[in-house]
Amino acid sequence: MKYSSLVDLYRKLESTTKRLEKTKIISDMLKELKGENLSNILLLLQGRIFPQWDETKLGIASRLVVKSISKATGISIEKIEKEWKKTGDLGLTAQNIVSKKTQSTLFSHELTIQKVFNNLKKISTLEGKGSVDRKIQLIAELLTSSKPEEARYIIRTLLEDLRVGVGEGSLRDAIVWAYFGKEISIQLNEKENKLEITDRDAYNKFVSAVQQAYDITNDFAVVAEIAKKTGIKGLLDQDMVVGRPIKVMLALKVNDAAEGIGRVGKPAEVEYKLDGFRIQAHKVDNKIKLFTRRLEDVTAQFPDIALYVKNNVKGDSFILDSETVGYSPKTKKYLPFQNISQRIKRKYNIEEISKKFPVELNVFDILYYNGKNMIKEPFRKRRDLLEKIVRQKEKQIVLVKKIITDDEKKIKEFFKASLEAGNEGLMLKNLDSPYKPGARVGYMVKLKETMENLDLVIIGAEWGEGKRAKWLSSYILACRDDNSNLLEIGRVSTGLKEKKEEGFSFGEMTELLMPLIISEKAREVRVKPEIIIEVAYEEIQKSPKYSSGFALRFPRVIRSRSEERSVEDISSLDYVEELYYNQKK
Ligand code: AMP
Repeated sequence: MKYSSLVDLYRKLESTTKRLEKTKIISDMLKELKGENLSNILLLLQGRIFPQWDETKLGIASRLVVKSISKATGISIEKIEKEWKKTGDLGLTAQNIVSKKTQSTLFSHELTIQKVFNNLKKISTLEGKGSVDRKIQLIAELLTSSKPEEARYIIRTLLEDLRVGVGEGSLRDAIVWAYFGKEISIQLNEKENKLEITDRDAYNKFVSAVQQAYDITNDFAVVAEIAKKTGIKGLLDQDMVVGRPIKVMLALKVNDAAEGIGRVGKPAEVEYKLDGFRIQAHKVDNKIKLFTRRLEDVTAQFPDIALYVKNNVKGDSFILDSETVGYSPKTKKYLPFQNISQRIKRKYNIEEISKKFPVELNVFDILYYNGKNMIKEPFRKRRDLLEKIVRQKEKQIVLVKKIITDDEKKIKEFFKASLEAGNEGLMLKNLDSPYKPGARVGYMVKLKETMENLDLVIIGAEWGEGKRAKWLSSYILACRDDNSNLLEIGRVSTGLKEKKEEGFSFGEMTELLMPLIISEKAREVRVKPEIIIEVAYEEIQKSPKYSSGFALRFPRVIRSRSEERSVEDISSLDYVEELYYNQKK
């Protein structure tokens, strides 16, 4: 298939903000495809080269792109940068420059999807000496064959900033419409922006089967192939692959013990909610692999945990769900997450840092054991299994502390005990429930004391003035809607420290943001949405000024959340709205 057909699709997707219309555009494309390139097309549609579980990054900086455009077109770097300043968008800049360029050297061949995909993939594997030149070469090669509009999308894909607004929900539904549209009638009433379905129950079954397969594989290309070839049975039978991360189950929030019990039923398992970070521990072929909630492989960063798991958990193959918590080597007391967050990204001196910031693994669930998928088993059975196979060792590997009760008073006492032990609060869990990967369902709920902070992504920033002139010191924040669109919700410039020794500093944040800059206009920059921060505030207010329709009063940065959150995990508009109405009450 030609790359220009994919560009047509991008253009169509960009022309509407309606989720149903986007879904229709994708499903029409899927229906027409004859097996060719399905997997690459689905990835490129999401602006990706690798599926979500694969953490390989393109990691191309804007400067390199500028050089590549220059190489492909013969136009000087200065000229390109000038144009870039004007448009504030490097993709558009490439498009303009390619269209101005004389025809002689350009458009030498028609670009295929395969060619674009292959070059991008090659770029991600290059390392070491000479790799920068090779990368420029590979990008220039694509641009030389690009039509102007193609250049725009190639550059955006390279910068991991495609912005055509294809969310997981649209892809999931498009797969249903494309492959199950024969079994039930699914019609989009475009005028009323409404779906007309003959059999709602059947439709919901298809949707949840596709979702289930996706939560296990984290790869829409794989899911589409299965749906096409083996239908709903194939989707439901899709098993997890030990050694490959799956999405973890998420919790709903409740305001008090009574509401919690109401949600999960009586009696409930009530557990400490530890303030650490989620770890999924896999064992396969006698090797341990550790993944974060963002599906990143952190085995190398936590040799201590890998060893605890290896030595103290019985079984040939398994997947455990757990929380890793840091503790003080002196007092042995639990420490807040912030203290150990630096271990997640650490690439060197791992031995040393693991002594300085020791951690304890608190296991609370099991998804797979000795060749058997456990997620459909009731929670009480999964916990029983854990009790049998985990040899607990304080400050290494333990099972999460729990009680089973239906008594609100006992829950309140346990809550107090948990806070005293340095934890965040409690989790309440339904004893009969299955494990639902990726879902925020009421099988487990969290009970915390504090006002709910927001996890927001930084989409832009502004250079400071005066003594802050060397820093990006004010940050543009966004939450997300159901379709993964990022919506602005205000700016924050307090909470960070001026000196590095005092904690999360402006300098550190500036270093994090610099490589992510996509465009620059006057003092303001736009950045790839990767840095996630927890933000506290006095109040949420309605505001027409920002695209979310809300603004925060007196926002301040609490901590970095990028180590364990990805953009899909940031606070949703629905959640902001809910908090807004709750505070009014
Ligand atoms: P939150 O991050 O506030 O949405 O709370 C959910 C997170 O709490 C999970 O993703 C876990 O990382 C963490 N957590 C801490 N203790 C537990 C526990 N006992 N069971 C499940 N999750 C826990």
